[in-house]
Amino acid sequence: MEKTTKQNKEQIECKDRLCPFHGKDKLKLRGRTFQGKVIKKLDGRVTIGFERMLKVKKYERYEKRNTKVHARLPDCLRNDINLGDLIEVSETRAISKTIHFVVSKLIREKGKWKQLVQDQQEA
Ligand SMILES: [Zn+2]
Repeated sequence: MEKTTKQNKEQIECKDRLCPFHGKDKLKLRGRTFQGKVIKKLDGRVTIGFERMLKVKKYERYEKRNTKVHARLPDCLRNDINLGDLIEVSETRAISKTIHFVVSKLIREKGKWKQLVQDQQEA
């Protein structure tokens, strides 16, 4: 079983040289990972947004801050990831001025979670 799944993975054509999984330049994933929603999808790159909590020392409270991260979208994930999906990005070396993250996996497709809730309510 394990052998067949491995073969299937290799059959996916991916000519992206900056792909962390099959690329020639073997991007090394290191550092931080973030999860967020895809708010922009462009050719070969995406922008994700998520909320983080920032401590305000003066008031000993936390405030919400919105953060955007630009990430490279490898060829083999291009068809899987769409606007609104929840994805995970991993830090890598700087690919361009604004991109030093790469999409590592799809966590949840847009609307999937809502569907699950609806199914549970109907059951
Ligand atoms: Zn790939």
